[in-house]
Amino acid sequence: RKLGYAIVGLGYYATQQIMPNFAGCDHAKLVALVSGTPAKLAQYGDQYGIPKTHRYSYAEFDRIGDNPDIDIVYIVLPNSLHAEYSIRAAQAGKHVMCEKPMAVSAAECQAMIAACAKAGRKLMIGYRSRFEPYNRLAIELARGGHVGPTRIITAEHGFPIKAGQWRLDRPLSGGGSMMDIGIYSLNAARYLTGEEPVEVSAIASTDRSDPRFASVEDRIDFMLRFPSGIIANCVSSYSSAHNGYRVIGTQGWIDMEPATQYSGQTMMIRKDGVTAPRSLPVPAKNQFAAQLDHLPECIANGTAPIVAGEEGLADLRVIEAIYRSAAEHRSVSLSA
Ligand code: NAD
Repeated sequence: RKLGYAIVGLGYYATQQIMPNFAGCDHAKLVALVSGTPAKLAQYGDQYGIPKTHRYSYAEFDRIGDNPDIDIVYIVLPNSLHAEYSIRAAQAGKHVMCEKPMAVSAAECQAMIAACAKAGRKLMIGYRSRFEPYNRLAIELARGGHVGPTRIITAEHGFPIKAGQWRLDRPLSGGGSMMDIGIYSLNAARYLTGEEPVEVSAIASTDRSDPRFASVEDRIDFMLRFPSGIIANCVSSYSSAHNGYRVIGTQGWIDMEPATQYSGQTMMIRKDGVTAPRSLPVPAKNQFAAQLDHLPECIANGTAPIVAGEEGLADLRVIEAIYRSAAEHRSVSLSA
C-alpha cells in the first residue's frame, strides 16, 4: 500500500510544491494536514479530499499518534520549529520527513536523531536535489573522474530576499542566507565530493543599515578544504541572483546553472578542450515525487534514507563552523 503523509505547516513550499506532487508518487499519498489556520485546513482539506478527522490544529498535533492512516509526518515549518515537531512526531510513533535546514543547531539535529532512534522510526531530510536527475548525474561524473580528478568546486546560491518574512527573523530562521540558501552550496560541495570538509574559512558581508538584515546575515563567502585536497569556494547570499556550481578537474569542468532550482537544470561540460551541453530525458518522476517516494521505500525495505538525519547534522556542523570562522576572522578545523 501507499504510505500516508501528514503535512505540518501549510505555507508556500508545502502547498505549492510538495502537495501537488503526491499525484506523481507510487508509494506515498497525502492523508492528513496540520495547520494553525482553520481556513487553510478547510481550503486544502477540501481540495485534496482530506476528511475532517484528518485535519489537525497545532494544539491537536500529538493526537496524530492515534491515527493509523498517518505513517509519516512531514515538517514544513520555519526552521526553529523543525526540531520540536520532528521529536513530537517520533514520540507519536511516526516516521519523520523534515525540511532543510534540519534544525538551527547541531545539538538540535542530534536530539532529533536520538528521538527517532529511540522511537524506532526513520528520519529523512528534504534534500530534494539528491533526487533530481542532473544532480545525480553530476555526482556520478564528478566522483567518477569524468573531467579528471576533482581539484576545485565553486558553488554559488543566492536570491534578493524580500522584506517582511520569517527568514529575516532570527528566532524563527536561526540565521540568514546560510541557513536558507547557502546550505545548497555547502550540501552540493559535500555531495559532489562525497567527502566531509576538514577546514572552513568564511567571510561575512552584511549591510546592517539595510532593514532586512537587522537580525540575520546577508552574504557569507566560505571556503571548504576536503581530505583529498579538493577546495570548494562557495557563496551564500540574500542580495544576488545565482544558483549554480562548477566541478573543475584536471581535464575540464562540469557546470550547472541553475543547479538546485525546482526545474530547468542546465548542464555544460568542458572536456579536453571541447565544451558541450549535456541533456537528459525528462524523468517519469520529478525530484519532488521521487523524494516523497524514497522514505516509504526505505521503510518497506528496512534501509536508511540517502539523506537521513546524519546528513542534516553534517551540514549544521559545518554551518556552525562557518559562522564561527566569520565571527572570529580565522579558519576553523573540523577534523576532530
Ligand atoms: P512559508 O512562510 O511559506 O510557510 C511556513 C508556514 O509555517 C506558514 O504556513 C506559517 O503559517 C506556518 N507557521 C506555523 N507556525 C509558525 C510560527 N510560529 N511562525 C511563523 N510561521 C509559522 O515558508 P516556506 O517557504 O514554505 O518554508 C517552510 C520550510 O520549508 C522552511 O524550513 C524552508 O527552509 C523549507 N523550504 C524548502 C524548500 C526546498 O526546496 N527544499 C523550498 C522552500 C522552503
